[in-house]
Amino acid sequence: MSTTETKQWQVGKEIIKTLKQKGYEAVFVGGAVRDFVRNKVANDIDIATSALPEEVKAIFKRTADVGLAHGTVLVIEDFVPIEVTTFRTDGEYEDHRRPTDVKFVRSLEEDLKRRDFTINALAMTEDFHIIDLFDGQRDLENGCIRTVGNPLNRFNEDALRMLRAIRFTAQLGFSIESTSFEAIKSRAHEISFVSVERISAELEKIWMSANLFQGIKSLVKSNLASHLPGDHAFANDKWKTLGNPQNSSVCWAYLCLLNKQPVVAQLAKQYKLSNDLKNQITQLVKATQIRCNGFFTIEDLYQFSEDVLVQAEILASKLKDDNEPLQIDKLVHLKKSLPIQSIRELAVTGQDIMEWFDKPGGPWLKETLTQIERAVLHQKVTNDATYIKEWLLNESNHKE
Ligand code: ATP
Ligand code: MG
Repeated sequence: MSTTETKQWQVGKEIIKTLKQKGYEAVFVGGAVRDFVRNKVANDIDIATSALPEEVKAIFKRTADVGLAHGTVLVIEDFVPIEVTTFRTDGEYEDHRRPTDVKFVRSLEEDLKRRDFTINALAMTEDFHIIDLFDGQRDLENGCIRTVGNPLNRFNEDALRMLRAIRFTAQLGFSIESTSFEAIKSRAHEISFVSVERISAELEKIWMSANLFQGIKSLVKSNLASHLPGDHAFANDKWKTLGNPQNSSVCWAYLCLLNKQPVVAQLAKQYKLSNDLKNQITQLVKATQIRCNGFFTIEDLYQFSEDVLVQAEILASKLKDDNEPLQIDKLVHLKKSLPIQSIRELAVTGQDIMEWFDKPGGPWLKETLTQIERAVLHQKVTNDATYIKEWLLNESNHKE
């Protein structure tokens, strides 16, 4: 366990003890318990309690309202934030989506019953005693993802759970138990009721998974892939060659590039991706397409960051499948050897040029700067103010 993680568990224990002293029930729940039993680093530690949100807020000095509607209060002790959620059952499900309201209950069993999979329905006391009402430990040992209760009903209530099942196969390398898997197959079309934001968040987790290809395979086999936004090539064997980049923009770019006509704007719209992510994907797709059709020109080496060039080199080799050795060292060397890396590195500024020509600024200035940038990049002139001035005056004499 890392120091931060140990600290989280310690603070969690103290929070549970305090709640119990006040007469409430409180336990660790969810992914943290699952990861604890597997001896893996937990993402974030969650506590469930019989205390109502207002009661939790009255007990602890520092709290923040992060999800009051769902019963979640963030308790901050010793600078460590931990989510404390009141035991609850979900209200009515409409349209196969997450329920809009929840009902607070005082029983842990009720709370564990509403959880999606047996491996996620474990609870643990502050002295690390496991509470396992649905054989979650057995399923953890067997690498099995099984719904709590009847899978057809559970997927009908909230269709996102189907995609979560796939995400856990990718993250944990587990298999989905056969009745649960059959239920996903028969309800796959209902994923279209789920908000795109929730779908994208799960796909992002699949992209970052250690068993990415396993996830993609079950996405296709379960039929979910054909009901996701757009018409993307999840069912393409090339996913196998991708490996585990653990980089979400690379995976989105790959998804786009496997289409006959890769259009990043369309993909970004379908999955409501942020502008920042969309820009990263655009760069990657552009650079990979260039590399698939030849080598990078000086302009390309200048335009793209080293990171994008390297990723594109790797993606292009996977797409081309021609066993050509990767030229990463050469690429990095060429990129680093460019006379300048950006226009900011030019030895002259707009101010210098205005003075040389004794002219006020205007569109001509930007054009001239671009002209100098190109000339320096292509080594027609050395990046030095005296040389640039001489070259520029010469050029403008020629023009006149
Ligand atoms: P991660 O390590 O990715 O955080 P996690 O299992 O903690 O995994 P969360 O999405 O953080 O997943 O959810 C916390 C817990 O809440 C889950 O372990 C599960 O018990 C329950 N849960 C989350 N989403 C659902 C859902 N859609 N339906 C039922 N239970 C859910
Ligand atoms: Mg979690």
